[in-house]
Amino acid sequence: MRIDPDVKLDFCDVLIKPQWSKAPSRSSVRLDREFTFKKCSWNGIPIIAANLDTVGTFSMAKAMAEHGMMTCLHKHYQLDQLVEFFRTAPKGCFYTLGIKTEDMQKLDDFSKRVDVLPFLCVDVANAHIQFAAERIKMVRDKYPNAVLMAGNVVTPELVHHLVINGGVDIVKIGIGSGSCCTTRLISGCGYPQLSAVIECADAAHGCGAKICSDGGVTCPGDVAKAFAAGADFVMVGGLLAGHDECDGERSDGKFKFYGMSSLEANRKYSGGLKGYRAAEGRCIEVPCKGPVSATLQEIAGGLSSAATYLGASKLKDFPKCCTFIRVNRTHNSVFESWIG
Ligand code: 5GP
Repeated sequence: MRIDPDVKLDFCDVLIKPQWSKAPSRSSVRLDREFTFKKCSWNGIPIIAANLDTVGTFSMAKAMAEHGMMTCLHKHYQLDQLVEFFRTAPKGCFYTLGIKTEDMQKLDDFSKRVDVLPFLCVDVANAHIQFAAERIKMVRDKYPNAVLMAGNVVTPELVHHLVINGGVDIVKIGIGSGSCCTTRLISGCGYPQLSAVIECADAAHGCGAKICSDGGVTCPGDVAKAFAAGADFVMVGGLLAGHDECDGERSDGKFKFYGMSSLEANRKYSGGLKGYRAAEGRCIEVPCKGPVSATLQEIAGGLSSAATYLGASKLKDFPKCCTFIRVNRTHNSVFESWIG
């Protein structure tokens, strides 16, 4: 056993230091980015709705696209539904798959029925394991021209491995940060999200790849911090839960939201938990929140505001302009106990 003495930080451990700047007004801040991949490029605001079965829905994809944002569809749609959707899908939609043989087979069948392959996301809770890395490489070898996102990992070594050996274009970063995740409580494992992003962004950019910060965003300010830490994309789950575009159960103004490794999800898709496994997600109720558009505007507005504090005229410049300060308290919480 050894102890790494460096303190690793989360979004709640820092604030972005306000700077004097000649930054333009909020309205002229450019939040869109252009990314070039092997065979295509993408332009938009690089925020991605997470592939939870409640959040990564067809209707979320349409709403996100209206704001120039992306969606990672959940992997539980039927093949026919996916084929139908991707015939007219907005650009910037990810087809998600796991690493089981049946997931590979479904993608093969899918690829035969669509003209252009969408962006692909190979999603596994822990991509530090060899089998996961092998499966990710298998997808890359089969579909050399696809834009490939894969994860999740939290260390620069694994970022290098997935990019150099696995041919991944966008490495998804985050273990245990999610709002409905209990991995840290169940297994004691994880990595504070801000430090993971800072360290992994450096590793990915050094070898020409990109990262997506996945999990842990609790408010628009955290999205700004993730971009300032070096994330190229930021994935958001819980913040989008409960909106009209989500699929799931609603009653008495509440929406049922659960992690994809929760007992709830395991019951729904695998007939329950296998004897040797513990659930690593929770099931909660969130208020029904109406159309997602208002929340997306808040997030975009938060980024524009952060840009003016940072002195950045575009999202791309956030890391270059940012100094984080470590804090003991990020905000005044005096009225929070009165909410809800
Ligand atoms: P959020 O934006 O809600 O904080 O985080 C969303 C992310 O949490 C997802 O994209 C996914 O990586 C992760 N996640 C979703 N469900 C579970 C779960 O049941 N267990 C764990 N460990 N992580 C989850």
